[in-house]
Amino acid sequence: MSSTKPASSTTGDPLLLTPGPLTTSRSVKEAMVHDWGSRDARFIAINRAVLETLPRVILGEGAFVAVPMQGSGTFAIEAMLTSFVPRDGKALVLVNGAYGRRARTILDIAGRASVVYETTEDVPPEPGEIDAMLAADAAITHVFIVHCETTSGIRNPVEAVAAVVERHGRRLLIDAMSAFGALELDAREVAFDAVAASSNKCLQGVPGLGFVLARKSALEATKGNATTLTLDLFDQHQALSSSGQYRFTPPIHVIAALHQALEEFWAEGGTAGRGRRYAENARILIQGMGRLGFRTLLPETLQAPIIVTFRTPEHERFVFQRFYDALRDRGFVIYPGKLTVADTFRVGCIGELHAADMAAFVAAVKDTLLEMGAGLRTAA
Ligand SMILES: *Cc1c(COP(=O)(O)O)cnc(C)c1O
Repeated sequence: MSSTKPASSTTGDPLLLTPGPLTTSRSVKEAMVHDWGSRDARFIAINRAVLETLPRVILGEGAFVAVPMQGSGTFAIEAMLTSFVPRDGKALVLVNGAYGRRARTILDIAGRASVVYETTEDVPPEPGEIDAMLAADAAITHVFIVHCETTSGIRNPVEAVAAVVERHGRRLLIDAMSAFGALELDAREVAFDAVAASSNKCLQGVPGLGFVLARKSALEATKGNATTLTLDLFDQHQALSSSGQYRFTPPIHVIAALHQALEEFWAEGGTAGRGRRYAENARILIQGMGRLGFRTLLPETLQAPIIVTFRTPEHERFVFQRFYDALRDRGFVIYPGKLTVADTFRVGCIGELHAADMAAFVAAVKDTLLEMGAGLRTAA
């Protein structure tokens, strides 16, 4: 055990250096200390404010509406895919990790035709390849891409892919779950019909609400597409815009927390400000871990400042479970890897984490290596 006090959040909990749920601010947690009914005027006003502000994150005011979906992020992804891809449609799914694969599974279960263009987890899709696939298959109506594939932390080329998809007159659907609010996505420049994200990643709310920002004209055209009652985005939007009410119990505490989280997001400078803090977190992490001898999976050019995948060192005394537990004792929760290309672990840069937290994490890793007798390389 280290002699210094373990790191902790404002509530004494360990810091979550994970892909989510994440460490939130104290004020976000405090926003939940209420018992409001779903018809309470304060809740309705808060919900309306949340839905009105979300399109601003992608500079999509006027053209896009936010349709919330109760549940974790995957519920919003499933709602987006099954509402937007019609029964006689066909999706091209770009896969380089678990979230791309999950989209394929959703389409299979919903009985939607799809084809996959898969690259390995450390390789982004090639726009030229997509161009050829769309040219060769006129039946493809939609393309699905993950903005930051959290499996590895890779940044996929959404802008270049969107240009190809638009040129072919097809529609783009984006899973921006782990990137939304940290990586710019400008709806005035990038052509897409819908983007899905959630309350608990870079917006720094608590888990429990997903949402889809939908181009209004495209959402109108989804009427009758849904294969489930609960995940019907068209119906959800109709109910909310006509009565201000959710069709089914809303997670009011989650929405109240998201309202507060969005105030903090804008106060930090929106996507630009938050993205800057995360980029600084990632820089401190990668440089510090590099000095200790750890190597990242991805080259800097492909690395999003969201979550960093490190190769598990080959040192005989390095045992991941011991490393994980020792860091947990020092107040830091990291995440195992789930790659097929290499043995790895992941460290997140997102959530209410600041430069000092990342520096403290690197110091804790150094202590842990010494304790394990697994010093990888003397510091440069
Ligand atoms: C977190 C995440 C999701 C949603 O995961 P849930 O566990 O359902 O919240 C989807 N796509 C990506 C890229 C993610 O990072």
